[in-house]
Formats: sequence, structure tokens, C-alpha cells
Amino acid sequence: MYNGYTVIDAHAHIFPDKIAGKATDGISEFYDIPMSHQGNVHELFASGDKVGIDGYLVCSAATHPSQTKAINHYIELVCKQYQQCIGFATIHPYSESMLSEMEKILKLQFKGIKLHPDFQQFDIDDRKVYSLYEMIEDSGLPILMHMGDPNKTHSLPSRLVKVLDDFPKLKVIAAHLGGYQRWNEAIEVLKPSERLKFDTSSSLSFMPPEKAVDFIRKYGVENCFFGVDFPMWDHKEELDRFFKLDLTDTENKKILSENFIEWIRKS
Ligand SMILES: [Zn+2]
Repeated sequence: MYNGYTVIDAHAHIFPDKIAGKATDGISEFYDIPMSHQGNVHELFASGDKVGIDGYLVCSAATHPSQTKAINHYIELVCKQYQQCIGFATIHPYSESMLSEMEKILKLQFKGIKLHPDFQQFDIDDRKVYSLYEMIEDSGLPILMHMGDPNKTHSLPSRLVKVLDDFPKLKVIAAHLGGYQRWNEAIEVLKPSERLKFDTSSSLSFMPPEKAVDFIRKYGVENCFFGVDFPMWDHKEELDRFFKLDLTDTENKKILSENFIEWIRKS
């Protein structure tokens, strides 16, 4: 609890100890943003415990198909050991064994799938990824989709619109308020619904509070989840940014935990 609010961080990355340093250096270089932390689960808790984070959606994206197994194994172990963690599996859309990997994921207790088009270098609407979407849609699991890049076009909001049209039951959390550095396009084309939600991660540092509030209210408060994008950001700092939005008490409650808890329960 923080300031009397239950808080779920709906976007946290964790990496096995062995690769945590290397992985975060890679992400730091990619975005040219210094990381607040390295990114193993103990650091995640250390950052979150300081402010009383109650739960975490934990995930990681395999940048190469060969990393899939180790990452999913790690996330599975963490979730078994720590009740406060909700695991999203990784899968590489261009892996030759994608379908059998997906079958394995479905047998385990994952609550969703994390995809990162820019790290994994695929266009969201690439037809080659459609068989994966089909499986995910059938499973009923949601996708946490990284959205937006200032220079690359893999994760353009318009590409997600196409996929949502082609898969009418697919459930997606569009990360970073629909598109990191692509916010204006995102708000134009992404229409929130019971199957399209948004997280606030890696967004609040990049816009004045009034703009963030405007985006959140346009998407609908009930469609937004609080996320930190650990280890990029620190929980205390991100919560400070969140409370600068000066939303109402009811809006805070919804975004900080209620929306996500209710939605993931139904998924
Ligand atoms: Zn992410």
C-alpha cells in the first residue's frame, strides 16, 4: 500500500541473475536512457518494497528464440515462489519451434504473453505472426504489447489496429499509453474496449502532467493500468510522477490496482 492505495505494477521486467546486467545494459543502449536498476527479482522487490507495491506483472522479452526457454523457466519459478508476481511468458514470433513453445506455455500458469516488436524485430501486423495471434486468441490469454518507438516502425499503433480488426477476440494491453513517443498517433487510432487496455509505463516522464491526464481520460480511466517499466524506472519516482497528475481518489484507485485486478481475473 502506498498513500493508502493498493498498487499493482502492471509492467515490470525481470531477468535471471546471470543475464540481468547484460540485458539491462542492452535496453539502456537501445533507448539511450540510463537504467534505475539492474533487474533481477530481488532488486524489483527492493525497489517496490520501499513504497509498498502489492503486486507485479513480471515479464521479459526473448530477443533471440534460444532465450525463450530460460526466460520462461525463470518467470515460472519466480511466480511459484512469490505470490505477488503474475507472470507473462515470452515467445519469439520467428522461432521455428514457436507452436510447440506456445503449447508448453499454455500448460504452465502464465497469465499472458509479452511481445516486444522492436527488440524482437517484427512488425506487429506481419502476416507471419498471424498463426501466433491465432493461438493466443484461442487461449484467451492477453498480450502485453510493447508499443512505439521514435525511430522504428515495428510497433506503430496503426499496425496494432489492423491486428485487432483481424482478431476480434484478441486481448491486448498496449504498453506506454499506446505508443512510446508515438502518443499523438496512438490516441488517434487506438480505441479502448474490454479487450484493449493501456499501461502508463515509460510515459509520465516524457510529458507534462496535463497531457498525461488528457490521454488517460480520453482512453478512459477504467482502461488504464499503472506500470513502472522496471528496471528502467524506480517505483518511488514513478509513483511521485503518477501522483503529480492529481487525479481524483476514485481514479487513483482504479488505475493503481482495481482495473488491472478485475481485468486479469476475467482473462
Ligand atoms: Zn516492457
